Amino acid sequence: MKREELLELGTGHYSESSLTELASAIDFATEFHAGQKRKSGEEYITHPLSVAAILIEWGMDIDTVIAGVLHDTVEDTAATLSDIESNFGRDVSFLVDGVTKVSQARAGMRDLDSYLPTTKDNLAKLLIAVGEDVRVIIIKLADRLHNMQTLQHMSVDKQKKIARETIEVFAPLADRLNMGRVRVQLEELSFKYLMPRAFNETRMLMSSRIKKSQRKLDKVRREVSARLRKEGLTFEMDGRVKSIYSLFKKLDRVGDIDKIYDLIALRIIVDDISTGYLVLNELHDMYTPLFDRIKDYVAQPKMNGYQSLHTTVQTPTGQIVEFQVRTREMHEYAERGLAASFHYNESKLTDAYRKGEIAALPTDLGWIRELQEAASKAHEGKEFDATKFKMKLFADRIFVHSPRGDIYDLPIGSYPLDYAYRIHSDLAARTSGFKINGAMKPFDYVLKHGDVVEILSSKTAKPKPHWKDLVITPHARNKLRSQLAKDDSIVAQLTGGVSSLFRRKK
Ligand code: MN
Repeated sequence: MKREELLELGTGHYSESSLTELASAIDFATEFHAGQKRKSGEEYITHPLSVAAILIEWGMDIDTVIAGVLHDTVEDTAATLSDIESNFGRDVSFLVDGVTKVSQARAGMRDLDSYLPTTKDNLAKLLIAVGEDVRVIIIKLADRLHNMQTLQHMSVDKQKKIARETIEVFAPLADRLNMGRVRVQLEELSFKYLMPRAFNETRMLMSSRIKKSQRKLDKVRREVSARLRKEGLTFEMDGRVKSIYSLFKKLDRVGDIDKIYDLIALRIIVDDISTGYLVLNELHDMYTPLFDRIKDYVAQPKMNGYQSLHTTVQTPTGQIVEFQVRTREMHEYAERGLAASFHYNESKLTDAYRKGEIAALPTDLGWIRELQEAASKAHEGKEFDATKFKMKLFADRIFVHSPRGDIYDLPIGSYPLDYAYRIHSDLAARTSGFKINGAMKPFDYVLKHGDVVEILSSKTAKPKPHWKDLVITPHARNKLRSQLAKDDSIVAQLTGGVSSLFRRKK
């Protein structure tokens, strides 16, 4: 990335005067980084310019882009914050300060082997900086993305460390902010470096499978298009292919690619959500829906604010297809998440924004506002005591591992069954016991941060009514309830002969 390329990229998105300011930031950073090289041998300045380019691509406001250009100057060069403030104003210097603070907070996180316990404390510090202005974390994500994109120049050892940290800290962070596209990019790159063989195998499996199903899927797509058009509905449809990393994780749980129905999902974008529900109706009229796979994330958004209608249907020829129906805004938000709250040409964001007083943030990300309040309180006081503030992002969660090292976050106080239902509800239903850190533990063991949890299962094991007291997460509770209800209805049938199980649609 060069000076002129970056300015070209910003042209049309920002005002003339903003671009002039951007140009002078590029010159400032170029001067201060002069003589510094990256591992690749390139001039160091190519890195901050690439980070700024990513921020433009994400549609960020000009201050964020300028701060992206300057993000490493205070930490790595002779430039000072007051230099930045006098040249580029308080907003930009505030952002650069935040990014620098995050780096400093992270200095203590380098030892990744004793990674989990220290990480949480440091993450809290990291979040102070974030809390003051969420754009800081967006800059950090762009920074990390570019470092991952240029990771080939590092030693293998470093590659693995950075990739692991990315998949364990930065990708989940992007997910919390509903920045779906960035999360996937970070995961794919990390996976490739962490498990190159598995990455390649999964990628090949994926592409051969997609080739195989492409024709059948095209047929479904044509059928659905014709039908929706006939009903006079306005929509756009495209296919979304599952990411290689999420396929890998799912294969790990499910075992068989034939049981994975959302390898390719058809995505239908509509103008308003009432059309979305009409589309869902048409789909269910054309094909047989798999009832436990209808998900209304519009009525009940995911924790990160994700909204969409999901359904999986079976066609008369036995093809199983997942559909995702959403409005354009929901789609935009699912891809860009928090970054979708910012727009290129928005006038300078003010102190009011920083204090969360203007409604720039989607309501589902209300925790960010809490974070900001906590941060400003912490700032007024002297010491920051993480326990004093409800840090919604991580502080009320613990991280536990699967035996192969995958990380899952659960609320504090979770039981092993909560973890099991989180992994897979069919597996959870057949649980016969748990090994925690290699030792057998009872069902009422309370999970601790960093536990490695292994689920022991048996074909004959079944969910028990008293398990209701051994789960605390709503997800586990709901799954368990429906499993117990299913068992009851089978008993009812055997004893009463009600043929409700054979009731079918149409
Ligand atoms: Mn950097």
